Amino acid sequence: MKIKMTVPIVELDGDEMARVLWSWVKESLIEPFVDLKVEYYDLHIKNRDNTNDIVTIDAANAIKKYGVGVKCATITANKDRQDEYDLKEMWKSPNGTIRKILNGTVFRTPIILDTLTPIIPTWTKPITIARHSYGDIYISTSLEIGKDTKVDFVLTDKNGYETKYPVFDFNEEGILMGHINLDSSIKDFAHTCFKYALNSKTDLIFGTKDTVTKTYDYKFKDIFQNLYNNQYKASFEEEGISYTYTLIDDAISRAIKSNGGVIWACKNYEGDLMSDMVATGFGSLALMTSVLVSSDGNYEYEAAHGTVKSHYYRHLSGEKTSTNPIAIIFAWTGALRKRGELDANEDLVNFSNKLEEATINIVNKGIMTKDLIKMSSVENKKWVNSQKMIDSIAENLQSILL
Ligand code: NAP
Ligand code: MG
Repeated sequence: MKIKMTVPIVELDGDEMARVLWSWVKESLIEPFVDLKVEYYDLHIKNRDNTNDIVTIDAANAIKKYGVGVKCATITANKDRQDEYDLKEMWKSPNGTIRKILNGTVFRTPIILDTLTPIIPTWTKPITIARHSYGDIYISTSLEIGKDTKVDFVLTDKNGYETKYPVFDFNEEGILMGHINLDSSIKDFAHTCFKYALNSKTDLIFGTKDTVTKTYDYKFKDIFQNLYNNQYKASFEEEGISYTYTLIDDAISRAIKSNGGVIWACKNYEGDLMSDMVATGFGSLALMTSVLVSSDGNYEYEAAHGTVKSHYYRHLSGEKTSTNPIAIIFAWTGALRKRGELDANEDLVNFSNKLEEATINIVNKGIMTKDLIKMSSVENKKWVNSQKMIDSIAENLQSILL
């Protein structure tokens, strides 16, 4: 008998090879076992174009309503994509739109297997990057400045009263950027990180450059420290986990030298870069899971990789590609497990754990996609195409569910 669900999860379909794998994973690994309840939104680039991107906004609002979503990778349009898909506009990044509506923090965690050696071999436990997803250079104004130009910040209050702050006297041509953040968003970020650390019983580290940006980055440091001292310290001590603030430079060197097993909170830009660095260090983008957590407790799970365009075109030409489905499988298990936890649906939680176990079993037995083959320490390893990989996982899942 299939596992029943009471509340739907919000499904956000996507583009290219990720979309192909998405349907295979659903068809072979989920639907045979779970009486799947979803509210479906098609974020295929043509459907975003047809709906003037309203579908993305509707999907984000649905996640707010139901609390749990699972998203396939989507194309972020640029000029080439606009021509390729004959789009009305270069639509905004769906992830950006969803993050803005959910106002969340993105946590990226690698999947660690005993038989796969990371590029940084001392990383035996995961490093989770918690990326603040609001503001800084992503909400900024940047300008080219001409020769002999004086630049000031002018602050205007609601009565029209102006205060001027000198920025720089340009006596040659140059560039300028102003960017922002909000105390409320930094507070939400801090709360989400502390709660995530407590939930996963993992040490938390946070680094900024407050020695250089003594007001801007200091504000981040200060908000984190105050919340920690006043609201979280006791619970952290009770769980035996730590919170450490340090300079971003030191955080990077600690991360490289560590065995992993930490949550590393980063400001928006640093988080963008460090999540790529950590994914590369662990060996494959297709082993990186990603979840957006909002401060009011909504969750959106996805794979960290994109739509894998190059594989898609080979797929369209008839080739059976060896595209790794693991991060997509873990996006589904993450969402189903969370749904199960929220609804006290033990069968659904158990199923999610078993599907992850089956996936890991197959790689440990030496069956994997091409991207993992060099990392694997299994003697009789072989690489297979995506469909064969999914079929092997389905077979193993059948046997461990019995
Ligand atoms: P990508 O799809 O992540 O792929 C980059 C390369 O990484 C691939 O060419 C492939 O390398 C390897 N790779 C990624 N995932 C893999 C997997 N599951 N299995 C095996 N190899 C994998 O990034 P992209 O090519 O830069 O971007 C393509 C599109 O994805 C873009 O339109 C972008 O906007 C979008 N994107 C979406 C998201 C999202 O929705 N979350 C995130 C990033 C990018 P080889 O070719 O060497 O095999
Ligand atoms: Mg990046």
